[in-house]
This record gives sequence, structure tokens and C-alpha cells, in this order.
Amino acid sequence: MATVVQKFGGTSVADAAKITRAAGRVKKARDEGYSVVTVVSAMGKSTDTLVDLARELSDNPDKRELDMLMSTGEQVTISLMVMALKELGIDAVSLTGWQAGIRTEAVHQNARITDIETDVIESHLKEGRVVIVAGFQGMTPEGEITTLGRGGSDTTAVALAAALKAESCSIFTDVTGVYTSDPRVVKEARQLSSISYDEMLELANLGAGVLHPRAVEFAKNYQVPLVVKSSMVEKEGTIVEEEASMEQNLMVRGLAFESAVTKVTVEGMPNENDTLSNLFSALAESGINVDIIIQQVTENGRINVAFSIHTQALKDTLAAVESRREELQYTNVRHFDRLAKVSIVGSGMISNPGVAADMFRVLSRQDVRVQMVSTSEIKVSAVVEEEKMVRAVEALHTFFELDQRVELNV
Ligand code: ADP
Ligand code: ASP
Ligand code: MG
Repeated sequence: MATVVQKFGGTSVADAAKITRAAGRVKKARDEGYSVVTVVSAMGKSTDTLVDLARELSDNPDKRELDMLMSTGEQVTISLMVMALKELGIDAVSLTGWQAGIRTEAVHQNARITDIETDVIESHLKEGRVVIVAGFQGMTPEGEITTLGRGGSDTTAVALAAALKAESCSIFTDVTGVYTSDPRVVKEARQLSSISYDEMLELANLGAGVLHPRAVEFAKNYQVPLVVKSSMVEKEGTIVEEEASMEQNLMVRGLAFESAVTKVTVEGMPNENDTLSNLFSALAESGINVDIIIQQVTENGRINVAFSIHTQALKDTLAAVESRREELQYTNVRHFDRLAKVSIVGSGMISNPGVAADMFRVLSRQDVRVQMVSTSEIKVSAVVEEEKMVRAVEALHTFFELDQRVELNV
């Protein structure tokens, strides 16, 4: 019997009625003759509520305890989902991440799945039960509870699909699929019928919250056919696959954006071989994720280095740089917050050198100043003022004709 994996996000299981509706989707797959493994998220915004509660008690809550706390959200949903399924006459069993054999590295709050022992799941499936697994959580070899980073239930689902060699993995969510940009912000956004793993990975990494980046990574590495679709309405959804079949010659397939970007500039360091390595080792040791880096040699032969970080990391970044003041010998550290990153993504860019030029022209016409740039073969990102982010995204969306050329599934 072929296996399918399904995943329902927070909005799709936000209350009892929605859980019953989701259970109906599970039953449908079961009735079609599949072995079904279903991953669920915490109900509605309950993970946020748990985090807020922790922050009421501490500005810097212990990460192990945060994992202990945050992993409870999914445990609520698995049990309720099984109760709903039993009401529909379906035999089912709930498993926490650790009961389901999901092993992770020993990193709290952002652990990677290292392997999955599927024996328990498989024995339930063999006995004809639907297995409901708590998303977003796993266990270290030492038996510690970990979580996979916000949005990580997608990754639980895709990793399970890979481990169980499932026929497909369906991500049921509150939109009908992957759009050319976030449909909540860009009213003209259109649903894509398909998108390649590589494009989806870029979009997810660049802020498109519809899929957790590691879920896409797993799907690509293990060639899991991934479908994003609505849990509310019956529509086809978007297929994430190796080669997106539609609109092959579409230069830009999607647009992503994220706010809360800060640019930090460390000025007047000596122009020596180890300057960069000293600066970025200091940041790495403090666990700071640096995104775009720009180095500039000044007229008097010193170097200025600008880099972008998430605004949340600013305090730690300034402390890390300050703690190496003697070694780095800088004259000044400056920072600019309230920035945002706007990115265009499309595999058609590889053979079209003019795309970045087009992007900058559109931004300049909109009076949007570009502060930093980064590119890969299939994306161009520009850091701009946060207040101009939406204007920039809308103008780019129109210029690259994403409102018109994309095939609709409706
Ligand atoms: P879930 O709780 O089901 O995991 P998420 O909130 O994590 O749902 O993801 C769905 C949301 O992703 C949508 O409501 C939408 O606002 C946002 N989103 C961002 N970028 C895109 C995109 N390119 N296509 C579709 N949705 C997107
Ligand atoms: N409940 C977790 C979160 O809100 C995981 C998820 O929903 O994917 O981040
Ligand atoms: Mg999500």
C-alpha cells in the first residue's frame, strides 16, 4: 500500500471545527487506499502565545526550556486530531516527534533532523492505523527535546515523506498554493502551478514564509514530490518539483521580501590579511548570522566592512564587535536599522544578464535607494528602506509581469 504524508499548518487546525475538517482530508486519503501519515502544527497562533508567555518572565529565556515549552503546542493538536478521526470511524494514533523516531542534532531552537527511525510508524501503518505526528519537534541522542525553528512542521513532514519513501507530501495551508509573492501583501500576486526546488529554496530562504527552507532542501535532496494546497477549498495547489514545467522562459518566477534588516558598518580597520577573518570569527562565535557583506578600501588605505543582519541580532552584534576592539582596530561602528530585503527569483535569470539592471532601474524610478546587493545565479536581492519595501515589491511585480504571465489554477 502506497504511503502519503500530509501536513496541516496552524491556521488549518485553529479550532475544533477546523480539526474536524482536516480530519476529513485525512479520511479522504485513507478511503483512496493510502497509508497515511499526517503531521500537524500547534493550533492557530498558540506557539506565539507560548513564546510571549516566556518573554513575560525573561528577556532571554533559556533555550532548552523554550524547546520544552514550545513543543507542547503540537502535542495538543495530535491528540485532538486522533479524537476527530475516531469520530469519523478511522483508526489512528498520535505520536510526539520523539515517539515517531525523529532524531536531531543537539541544538536548541533550531535543530536539524539527523535521521528518522521509522519502525514505530511503520508498525502502526501495517496495522492499518493512520499516524498523526507532532511537527516541529525531535529528540537529541541524549534524550533532550528540540524544536526545528519557526515554521519547522513543514520540515517534519517532508523528512518523514523521504524516510517513508512516500508517494507524495501535501502541505495543507491557508493559501491555495505558492504565489508569485505573498498574496497578503501583493494583491496582484498569482498562484503558480509549479515551481522548481531551487527557485522555491531561494524564495523560502529570502523570506517567503509559505514553506520552511529546510523542508524544501529535504524535498530536493530526496526528490520528494511536494504539493502546497489549501486546507479550506478543493483546488489543485502548486507542485514543487525538479523542473518547473510551466512558463519555462519566465525570467522572474517569484518575489520575496523580509523586513527587520539592519546594516552594520565597521570602519577604519587595518587592511591586513586577517582583518576579515577576525571580524567574522567574532560574529560567528556569538552565533550571529550575517547575510550580505561589502568590503571597501578607503582613500587612506584602511578598510570599511558593511554587513547585514537581522535587527534582532543588533545588540549581540555590537557587543561582539566591541569585545574585539583592540584586535580589530576600527575607528567607528555605525548601524542603520529599519531596512528590508527585496529579492527577485527565477531560474531564467541564468541566461539573462540584464535582470539586475532592470531591477535597479525599476527601484530608482520608484525613488527607492539600494543600500546593499547580493546575487546568485537565480536571484538578485536589494536592501532598501523598510518603509519603501512594499512599494518596491509591487513595482517589481508589475515590471516583471508576474501579475499577467503566470498560469492560474483556478
Ligand atoms: P501554516 O500555518 O499553514 O504553516 P504559514 O503562515 O506558515 O502557514 O504559511 C502560509 C502563509 O505564507 C500565507 O498565509 C502567506 O501570507 C505567506 N506567504 C509568503 N509568501 C508566499 C508565497 N510566495 N506564496 C504563498 N504564500 C506566501
Ligand atoms: N508551531 C510552530 C511555529 O509556529 C511550527 C509550525 O507551525 O510549523 O513555528
Ligand atoms: Mg508554516
